[in-house]
Amino acid sequence: MKVAVRMDFVTEELKRLKDEGLYTYIRTIESPQGPWVVIEGRKVLNLCSNNYLGLCNEERLKDKAKKYIDQYGVGPGAVRTIAGTMSVHIELEKKLAAFKGTEAAMLVQSGFCANLSAIPALVGKGDLIFSDELNHASIIDGCRLSRAEIVRYKHNDPDDLERALKEKEGTNCRKLVVTDGVFSMDGDIAPLPELVEVAEKYGAMIMVDDAHGEGVLGRRGRGIVDHFDLHGRVDVEVGTLSKAFGVMGGFVAGKSELIEYLRQKARPNLFSSALTVPDVAANIAAVEILQESGELVEKLWDNAFYFRARMGELGFDTGHTQTPITPVMVGEATLAKELSMKLFERNVFAQAIAFPTVPKGKARIRVMVSASHTRDDLDYAVSAFAEAGKELGIIG
Ligand code: PMP
Repeated sequence: MKVAVRMDFVTEELKRLKDEGLYTYIRTIESPQGPWVVIEGRKVLNLCSNNYLGLCNEERLKDKAKKYIDQYGVGPGAVRTIAGTMSVHIELEKKLAAFKGTEAAMLVQSGFCANLSAIPALVGKGDLIFSDELNHASIIDGCRLSRAEIVRYKHNDPDDLERALKEKEGTNCRKLVVTDGVFSMDGDIAPLPELVEVAEKYGAMIMVDDAHGEGVLGRRGRGIVDHFDLHGRVDVEVGTLSKAFGVMGGFVAGKSELIEYLRQKARPNLFSSALTVPDVAANIAAVEILQESGELVEKLWDNAFYFRARMGELGFDTGHTQTPITPVMVGEATLAKELSMKLFERNVFAQAIAFPTVPKGKARIRVMVSASHTRDDLDYAVSAFAEAGKELGIIG
């Protein structure tokens, strides 16, 4: 006898999300990514993208991708351990390791995959993970996949991490401390020197996810480890190529032996095909651009400081960001959505972010300023925020 597969919960859950204002409507972009994009036939100022340095549509990246497609084709064939690794992937890995100042790096399909690669390969059942309570979803999923016990410590609080490690002192197992480098919703930076010190004291490994630090922090955007001059003291560095690098992909960087180990043990490397050739090629060009000049990184920071200062003068609360991620705090999810709609009416694309991505009552518009925005673009954004914010009573 056949049992009917019941899918009613899908309909019910979609209805619930819509009723509670938690449903995300995804806009379709009809142009390349850039400071201005075309949505529904309208040119709008883009304040949503993680395209920090404006590289998504950069000529050098596109030229390199085209050249490598002609030379190497597009697909990697299969997973690297089965179909062999292509020389282009090795070329990018060497460049990434040099850029990060580590001995080696291993490419994977995305930043999300990089966390799923590293964490379950390093710890397992019977081991302990100490994870910042606000870590990114991909770290959380990597931790869950590992089946290690997860101990959450208070956000950016090395004293609380120490308390947690002390409680488990004497437990004879592997211990891993893991944190975002830059927290993607608030833009604050992890106190990495203090976290490293505590991890070292209690014999724990330390891992940082530098997704929002690469291309942003450190000399010419080398990331959080360079920013704090902690080279050699962070065991595992996870990175993404989908934000400042303007392409797609992820990687893990560290000592040669760690990378050799991950190539043998990390499941996304063993069971999922490698990045495509154009992705790899464009990423090679992106690293080269960063190695040649710090100009884009400087422009990004100038823009971020300018925008934040102007928003502050208007009376907007931009939280406690320390990076170009600029949360415009609104409070209630419905108000944040209304603000986003009003901005869109004024040709400004800035998405509302609400629960469950951020805590209830802390809804916001997260503004992502890019190096490719001009001063005029930023002034345009500020005027739109001023008008919409006054209409909604967010500012006086
Ligand atoms: N880690 C953090 C901290 C992130 O913000 C993101 C992207 N939202 C990722 C990992 C995932 O990166 P990717 O988009 O390359 O999968």
